[in-house]
Amino acid sequence: MTEQADRLSLYRRFRPQRFGEVVGQDLVVATLRRAVAGGKLGHAYLLSGQRGVGKTSVARILARAANCLAPEAGEPCNRCASCQRILHGLSLDVVEIDGASNRGVDQIRRLREEAAYVPAGSRYKVYIIDEVHMLTGEAFNALLKTLEEPPPHVLFIFATTEPHKVPATVISRCQAFEFQPIAEDAIARVLAAVAQAEGIVLAPAAAELIARRSRGALRDALVVLDQLGQAGAVTEEAVVDLLGLPPLSQVDGFLDALAGRDADRALAIVADLSTRGRDLALFLEEAATRARDRIIAGEPGLIPIARSLIDLRGELGRAFSRRLHVEMAIVALCGPPQGGAPRPAPTREANVPSSTPAPSSPPPPLGGDPPEAAAPGATPADPLTEAWQAMLESMLAERIAVAAFLSPAAVTWADGLLTIRLPPDCGYHYESLLDPAVRGYVETTARKFFNPLLAVEVAWAGGNHRPTLEEGARILAEALEGRILREGDDGSR
Ligand SMILES: [Zn+2]
Repeated sequence: MTEQADRLSLYRRFRPQRFGEVVGQDLVVATLRRAVAGGKLGHAYLLSGQRGVGKTSVARILARAANCLAPEAGEPCNRCASCQRILHGLSLDVVEIDGASNRGVDQIRRLREEAAYVPAGSRYKVYIIDEVHMLTGEAFNALLKTLEEPPPHVLFIFATTEPHKVPATVISRCQAFEFQPIAEDAIARVLAAVAQAEGIVLAPAAAELIARRSRGALRDALVVLDQLGQAGAVTEEAVVDLLGLPPLSQVDGFLDALAGRDADRALAIVADLSTRGRDLALFLEEAATRARDRIIAGEPGLIPIARSLIDLRGELGRAFSRRLHVEMAIVALCGPPQGGAPRPAPTREANVPSSTPAPSSPPPPLGGDPPEAAAPGATPADPLTEAWQAMLESMLAERIAVAAFLSPAAVTWADGLLTIRLPPDCGYHYESLLDPAVRGYVETTARKFFNPLLAVEVAWAGGNHRPTLEEGARILAEALEGRILREGDDGSR
């Protein structure tokens, strides 16, 4: 336990001293109280769960309850000589060990030797080993010998955030308890009670926000309250500032943009977040959480968006560039931007609007039209659009199907890289363009219209084809950073 008195003072002051005061672990404390009251304590307990959920508090309460001279229905009285000694850290019979810093076999051997002696004045000699998973294999083996034949007066209480790292042989000798993350409303209630006791004016919205961001860890929530409560009043804005959270209006704006397939607006929000150095992962978490709230409040249309946001958050860890990855996902969800959104880099882009003909359907309405009339909505003056249109028309005369596959694409041409990006509903188009013969034809033709042309990449922002999305982000990122993969000698097939 490495608590800094200053930062955790609120947490320490409001640490539960009885089982009945422990928040959110009803099953665990009820079972332990019954065991104490019935005189049926085991010799080893394993308390597992995420940090900040009360494992150490429960271990200490159990240590007192086991030794209490006047226990009350399984609760320690906290007044008898034994309870007082333990509460003041003066008991020789309750030993707390930090597994992270005392992880070697020597410490455990010493513990075993000590444990063999009867307690100095208590019923039990209690060893609380925090972060027990940090012990070395040798130390675990030494511990196991004691666990296999425990002296009757010894009580081991192990706590861990990572029970899967504790050997099964050790776990099988313990009564194991899994601590749950504490529910948000329970945390908010504790925050309100503590604030009242401390004379802190805590806005209900601020309490809810702190509770939500502490992810089930009451300790984290109290640390935030401690920091902000110094000023006497805690507002929602103060929490937003301290935790670097996006304002709710921006989160809602982002969800509305995705729901309305407004890529421009969604991309603008991402650009704004990036410019201000906001954490995109945190923003996605907020957006997903907010989407959940809105779904519960009656907006089922947000369900697929919430799913996508959760997936996207999971993918960010391995993304080449977080911002690009998010931008690609927005395009996948909304379709290509229509212009007006800030671009990630000075690239030129043209969207060639057209119907999206199935490969078997008649040629797309490109043939025969003069170039300037070929694409309604396109800017005829844009050299990229002109070149792309000219290329499609040339293909139309030679291979109609390939032109059809390409016609719904948005294209980018920067630093010699031509990126052909197909919208989400064009999976078949994409698959067809992956065919090496088709691909070779596209590259050869593109060289006639785009100069310099070092590489052609085809990306599809759609469906469950996640690798393509990542690939697209990577290609785009490489293009933006000028690191273009040159094609091999056979590139001009
Ligand atoms: Zn007592």
